[in-house]
Amino acid sequence: MLDSYFEASMLGRAVEGGLLQIKVHDIRQWASDKHAITDDRPFGGGAGMVLKPEPLFESIEALKTEGAIVIYLSPDGETLNMTIIQELAAEKHLILLSGHYEGIDQRVRDTCVDREISIGDYILTNGTLPAAVLVDAIARYIPGVLGDEKSLTQDAFNSNLLSFPQYTRPAEYRGKRVPEVLLSGNHAAIEAWRTQQQIEKTRQRRPDLYQQFQIKDICKMP
Ligand code: SAM
Repeated sequence: MLDSYFEASMLGRAVEGGLLQIKVHDIRQWASDKHAITDDRPFGGGAGMVLKPEPLFESIEALKTEGAIVIYLSPDGETLNMTIIQELAAEKHLILLSGHYEGIDQRVRDTCVDREISIGDYILTNGTLPAAVLVDAIARYIPGVLGDEKSLTQDAFNSNLLSFPQYTRPAEYRGKRVPEVLLSGNHAAIEAWRTQQQIEKTRQRRPDLYQQFQIKDICKMP
């Protein structure tokens, strides 16, 4: 699953161009028995299976380089946001640990994991998609990955504002016309319109962010 995602589109081009390296490992190669078993029933009983400590300890020890950060994708971790993504984008080597079934043995979390990250308050069957989400979001902050790095400053969540509406040709479609200001060629007016749209959208959709935006604005005042 992960290989095909990482080979496609912008990530694929970034990997091909040597801007980042992504390696996917199957922990079965660190299993010690002949059936390559990596899970077992939970002590104390209960539903499901738990990933065993030995293959996880051994895989992390084998893969870890000096200064590498080990991240366990987990619904009870800190919720992923732009700040975390920018912090992680500055790191040289990340090891992402994707759980399965009922999760992983707690001793791995206590001993080997530096950071636990959730992609939201819902439960997926495993950590594959959360790992892909994290890689994708981080990759955008690696210089050269995006065609135009101005995209980063236009993204939602910069300055605690959501993004402005985008339009492309044709200027009129099915009776709906693009806002005139965008056709005016007046860059200052376009900038002002976009900021106004961002503020209004954020106020309506994300009162929490809007409040942060206002606090920052007040702090900037002399
Ligand atoms: N019983 C566990 C709990 O409530 O925390 C859920 C385990 S979940 C079915 C299996 C694995 O999927 C987890 O170990 C984790 O790696 C991954 N996972 C599921 N939802 C996730 C989320 N929202 N964020 C990050 N990882 C998640």
